[in-house]
Amino acid sequence: MSALHQQTAEELSRALKAEEISSQQIVQSCFERISETEHLGCFLHVDQANALKAAQASDDRRAKGEKLSALDGIPVALKDNHMTLDMPTTAASKILTDLQSPYEATVARKLREAGAIILGKTNMDEFAMGSSNEHSAYQAVRNPWNTECVPGGSSGGSAAAVAARQVPLSLGTDTGGSIRQPASMCGVYGLKPTYGRVSRQGIIAFASSLDQVGPFARTPKDLAALLDIIAGYDPLDSTSAQVETPRYSDELLPQVKGLRIGIPNEYFGEGLQDEVRDRIEQSVDSLKQAGAIVTEISLPHTQYALSTYYLIATAEVSSNLARYDGIRYGARIEDRDLRKMIARTRSAGFGAEVQRRIVLGTFVLSAGYYDAYYGKAQKVRTLIRKDFENAFDSVDVILTPTSPFTAFPLGSKTKDPMSMYLSDICTLAVNLAGVPGLSVPIGFSDAGLPIGAQLIGPWFKEKRLLQIAQYFEENLSMSTKSPDL
Ligand code: GLN
Repeated sequence: MSALHQQTAEELSRALKAEEISSQQIVQSCFERISETEHLGCFLHVDQANALKAAQASDDRRAKGEKLSALDGIPVALKDNHMTLDMPTTAASKILTDLQSPYEATVARKLREAGAIILGKTNMDEFAMGSSNEHSAYQAVRNPWNTECVPGGSSGGSAAAVAARQVPLSLGTDTGGSIRQPASMCGVYGLKPTYGRVSRQGIIAFASSLDQVGPFARTPKDLAALLDIIAGYDPLDSTSAQVETPRYSDELLPQVKGLRIGIPNEYFGEGLQDEVRDRIEQSVDSLKQAGAIVTEISLPHTQYALSTYYLIATAEVSSNLARYDGIRYGARIEDRDLRKMIARTRSAGFGAEVQRRIVLGTFVLSAGYYDAYYGKAQKVRTLIRKDFENAFDSVDVILTPTSPFTAFPLGSKTKDPMSMYLSDICTLAVNLAGVPGLSVPIGFSDAGLPIGAQLIGPWFKEKRLLQIAQYFEENLSMSTKSPDL
């Protein structure tokens, strides 16, 4: 049997059931791995004592013969924008240094109720704004496949921790690509569910009309098992959808025969790395051979996705981040003058990228510019959504690259925000439309860096995406390829 930290949640769960191992042993093995590979910088907080206590409680439940969930005793890591009671929640920002939340995110509560063990909180770009994890106020995260490269972002810690076998499962958030893009760059599976599928209650808000929580895992089955626990209506989140939730892990069989797959030509233009294009084409060929019907489609408003996203997201940022004024939350820089206290606190507490977005968002919402920028962006957002509605009249799923390029060297884009923003060119429209997107690892570049394909489905059709991902896993066995660390 391979080391415990190497195993998938499904394998661990089977071994727990067979009483071959204990949850305490699994948790111990993950902590050993985390400290062995600490140079990757994936975690901002770990809580070994509480995790071991929770593992012992899980082992006790099992010994008593209680009926347990599939993830009882299995470790999970949470991005550090998920409120938790036992660890600080900083969103990787200095302004929230040591913030101790008085309540817990719904998804964290659901995980605990299912018996999963929360090992720690993962590193991220500050307030989830970024595509490389380099905007963390703490350390950068390193890509497990090449430690001189970024892991992607903003959920870089969650993606890298799963890729590096530190933990079998993790949660991230995705506002414009922050689950799918790092999943692609780290060679793991990552799903952004339909907007409203998973509760956002207790998640630090970035852009509330776009934010969505979702899972990372090394196999589609593990992704489904985690989604089973976190998905569903939550009365505490006003945007939570009251739509029936299927059992994602039931009969998760590869479903490709007769499937109508659309390939949007807008996603294959300038800036796409040749090796990414080649791998995507190979994947499309393999799907055809398995009986899928592939057609070229058009999503004509794709070219406006980037500007629309940066108008809407920054407008929401300027409003959501107004609450960090040094009075109620986090750090404060004292000054006898109230205005100066707020200004000094915000200037010292927020990093450069967050400040850039607050200023931009304030501008696009200001009198005289509102209609020209924010109002227009909302109209274009509707057109982008309609592109997807039209496409799904004739296809079951859309396939694109997840990221136009593989992981890039640390420091190579930090001075050029526009080139950083272009990392998300393939993922942004999905958030604007609210549809689900799943990044599937499909191979490697010549330099040994992972490449991902993005599967986009109609609203609430996550199961369909998981079934196609399962086809890829059975054909390529990407879950068995691990970085040499
Ligand atoms: N990289 C995008 C941004 O910087 C998306 C971030 C996200 O999805 N949280 O806004």
